[in-house]
Amino acid sequence: MPTDLILEVFIIKALFLNEDLTLSLEETEKPTLQNPTDAIIKVSAASICGSDIHFITGEVALYPNDRFIIGHEGVGVVEEVGSMVTKFKPGDRVAIPAGIACGDCIQCREGRIYACEMNTLFGHGRIKGNLPGLQSEYVRMPLADRNLVHIPDSVTDKEVLLVGDVLSTGYIGVINGKPKPGEDIAIFGAGPVGLCAVASAKLFSPSRIILVDLEDYRLEAGLKLGATHIINASSTNAAKEVMKITNGVGVQVSVDAAAFPETINNCLACTAKGGTVSVIGISPWKIQFNMGRMFFNNLTLVSGYTSLHEMEHLVKMIEFKRLDTTPIITHEFKLSNILEAYRVFQNRLDNCIKVMIVPD
Ligand SMILES: [Zn+2]
Ligand SMILES: [Zn+2]
Repeated sequence: MPTDLILEVFIIKALFLNEDLTLSLEETEKPTLQNPTDAIIKVSAASICGSDIHFITGEVALYPNDRFIIGHEGVGVVEEVGSMVTKFKPGDRVAIPAGIACGDCIQCREGRIYACEMNTLFGHGRIKGNLPGLQSEYVRMPLADRNLVHIPDSVTDKEVLLVGDVLSTGYIGVINGKPKPGEDIAIFGAGPVGLCAVASAKLFSPSRIILVDLEDYRLEAGLKLGATHIINASSTNAAKEVMKITNGVGVQVSVDAAAFPETINNCLACTAKGGTVSVIGISPWKIQFNMGRMFFNNLTLVSGYTSLHEMEHLVKMIEFKRLDTTPIITHEFKLSNILEAYRVFQNRLDNCIKVMIVPD
C-alpha cells in the first residue's frame, strides 16, 4: 500500500455519556471534515448545562442504548474548514451555538431557527441528530458559515461562553415579554438561565428588576448582574412581595426561568394587567393555573427556547460592554478534571453556579 494513502489518526480526549448514564473521559478519534460546509473547531472553553445533568439523572429520556460525546455549550478556534466555507478560516475564534440550523427550511426562513426541521443539538445523541458534543478537545461543526459567530479579539472566552445556549435562552425570555423602558420585570429562578435573563433585562432599562430564588448566593450574583430587588422565596410569599414592591400594581413582564408549578402561578399572581408571563424553564410537569386571572387581567403567556438567531447581537453587546455574564461563571476546571466539575456543578458545592471547562 503506498504510504500516501495511509491516513494518520489523531487521538483526542472527550467526555462520553454511556448507555448506563455514567460519564467517562476517554480517548477517541479526532473529528475530521465530512462535508465541504464543515469546520473543525478546537474547543477553547466549554460548559456544563442543567440539561446535561438531566441526562445523567435520567430525567430526560435518550435514545435506547445510545452512547455519545456530551456537551452543547462552548467556544473555540477554527482549525480547518471545508472547501465551501467562506466566512471562517483557520485561527478564527468562534462562538458555537447549542444546535445547528439549516437556513433553508420553512422554520429557518421565517426566523424560527430554534425550530429548524433538522432538529439537531450538540451532545444529545440520536434524539437530536447525533452530533458529537462540545465537552471534547475538538468538534466537527456542520454548516459552519450559517451557524458560527466570530468572536472579536477584545472579547475573552469567559465573556462569550454562555452566548450559544443559556444567554440566548435568558435573552429570549426577556424579549418575548416585550419590555419597555421604565417598566418593571420580575425573574423567577436565579440559575444560569434566570441570571442571564437578569443581565438581559437590564438592556431594556426597566425601573426595577426583581429576582426570586431560594438560594442567597444566587440572589447575590443577581445583584451584580443588575437586579434591583431580591426575594428569597424560602422565607416569604414571593408573589405578594413583588406586589408590595410594585405598590400593588405588579410587574409588566415576569420571566419564569424555573418552570415549577409554584413559579408559573407566582408569575401569574404578580403580573400587572396587560402584562406578559414568559416561561423559559423546561417543565416536565402538567401545570394547573388560573385561566380566569389570565382572562380578566388580559395577560399574555409565552414560551420558547433559545434565540440563537440573536447570537451575533449578543456577541456585539458583549464586545461593547453592554452585557456581562461573567459573574455567573463561578468555577473553572481543566478537561482532565471534568468529572469533578460535574460533581461540583450538580451538587451546587462551593456556591457553584456555572463552570468553565478549559483544555489541559
Ligand atoms: Zn443547555
Ligand atoms: Zn432549518
